[in-house]
Amino acid sequence: METKPFNDHSFYEFIGQQQLMGSKCEDCDTLYCPPRAFCPNCGGTNMAWHQFKGIGNLAAFTCITVCAPQMIALGYGRDNPYCVGVVHLEEGPKIDARILGVNAKKPETIKIGTKMNIQYLEAETENDTSFMGFSPVK
Ligand SMILES: [Zn+2]
Repeated sequence: METKPFNDHSFYEFIGQQQLMGSKCEDCDTLYCPPRAFCPNCGGTNMAWHQFKGIGNLAAFTCITVCAPQMIALGYGRDNPYCVGVVHLEEGPKIDARILGVNAKKPETIKIGTKMNIQYLEAETENDTSFMGFSPVK
């Protein structure tokens, strides 16, 4: 049984191993991704690790043209926007993620409800130990 703490650090360690892991409340069966140590649904703390398939639908997105300095350093900006969004996972939870494989210069071509699949990538910045995003299922 996996005994890592239910926090972001553990979440990204799993991402580095190409596993999308969240937590499941053993008392009320509610799923969380990223993991939570405390269940807001029933107030319980009886959590277990749960592996997600990494498949879902695009629930919301925005294309960023005004970028933070670390993204500008990677070449993103007004002329090269990037997309972030919320993916509604098949298992239920919604997760914030980079949206890859879409044309962020043409947001009108990106459709809510598009089926998305997780992509595990090399870190783009030195501070990242691991990185993931979602792209449309081809
Ligand atoms: Zn619960």
